[in-house]
Amino acid sequence: MTSFSRRGACPALSAPMQTGDGLLVRINPLAGELSSRTLIELAESAARHGNGIVEVTARGSIQIRGLTEDSACLLAGEVDTLGIAVRTGVPVDTSPLGGIDPAEVADPAPLAAAIRAGIEDAGLASRLGPKVSIVVDGRGQIGLAAIMGDVRLVAADATRWRISVGGDEAAATFIGEHDGVAACAVALDTLRAVATMGREGRGRDLGLPQSADESKPEPLPTTGSSPIGILPLADDRIVLGVGLPFGSIDAQTLIAFCTVATELGATGIRPAPGRTLLVMGLASASADTLTATATSLGLVTSPADARIRIAACPGAPACASGMIAARDVAADIAAELGESLDPTLSLHVSGCAKGCAHPGPATVTIVGDEKGAAFVVGGTAKGLPAAYTAGYEAARGMGRLTKLLAQERKPDEDAAACLARLGAKRLAQALAQE
Ligand code: SF4
Repeated sequence: MTSFSRRGACPALSAPMQTGDGLLVRINPLAGELSSRTLIELAESAARHGNGIVEVTARGSIQIRGLTEDSACLLAGEVDTLGIAVRTGVPVDTSPLGGIDPAEVADPAPLAAAIRAGIEDAGLASRLGPKVSIVVDGRGQIGLAAIMGDVRLVAADATRWRISVGGDEAAATFIGEHDGVAACAVALDTLRAVATMGREGRGRDLGLPQSADESKPEPLPTTGSSPIGILPLADDRIVLGVGLPFGSIDAQTLIAFCTVATELGATGIRPAPGRTLLVMGLASASADTLTATATSLGLVTSPADARIRIAACPGAPACASGMIAARDVAADIAAELGESLDPTLSLHVSGCAKGCAHPGPATVTIVGDEKGAAFVVGGTAKGLPAAYTAGYEAARGMGRLTKLLAQERKPDEDAAACLARLGAKRLAQALAQE
């Protein structure tokens, strides 16, 4: 039996998730990419059966929103008819350029395949919870350090993998460094231990002690960065990465973009981490033309664009649970504050406490509730608010907070430390200023 299948066996398609704007399905193409023609047809299906919003997540999955039980079935049928084989089972994430990236330290694909096969052979898929995931990072041009993984394997060199458990790369607990065969065995042993905790178990719950400082390896040099822009491959080939504003695009805009990409000779489009799409097979001159098209369609074509630094869910009115217009607030903040946003600050704007766009903590989370826009510092959308503004004042409130940080942050502090030092009272005062 294989861990991959087409329609029906994919949990995301056969068991869509309930959200405030209807059912949502997540699609990870097994081949890693879709032809631009197939993506156009998928976008047409999303418009026909859902609310026309297509998303790419921080991990690089495609999401289609606003479905009903009946329309989700119709969509699943069309995905099958389009010949899109989807990945199922425990996610084992790699760079979408793994194996063809001339900058990568090691090809992650063989190790990822061995881990997937090991999960299947050990019957772990049904014993692990739906949120458990593995990251295999060959350290190429696309950074995976921010992606959460219960088990993380990072290429130390061409043959050895550094293994850590729980969280993103900065927070994960180092447990060892091994060649590929041993690294696979350690990863599977760790997943077996997670499975003994039941379907709620996560890597971070294993309670592994951090290694003593002297036994920790030297940090690896930073390699990957944002996939937005031109990424060189071997033989003068290039890839063009464009970002979706807040991970979202309406189906008609996606169709317009893919139509031009097809005309310019694109051979395929890969969803990628950081809420991006990678256009494959373009000549350099065509990439410039497609970049101009993407910019005119409102897509993100510069890694400096503030929109990629803000996580925001659809919010009101698209989502019935939304208490603030999260993406409008986020767009206003990006447009008005842009480069003045503190570079050490992570920002999440959430329509309600569910926090769909960013389940983890952020330096500042602006979340809608019955009192307006709550500002949570250093927590998640479910965290205790430090202060409030009216919903329509949220973007201006963030402007005041940005001013406060510019005045008060010490050179050795980051935004989180500065806001923690200033405390909730000072924050509330700053937000209340006219
Ligand atoms: S977090 Fe956003 S998308 Fe999720 S339920 Fe709340 S308003 Fe809807």
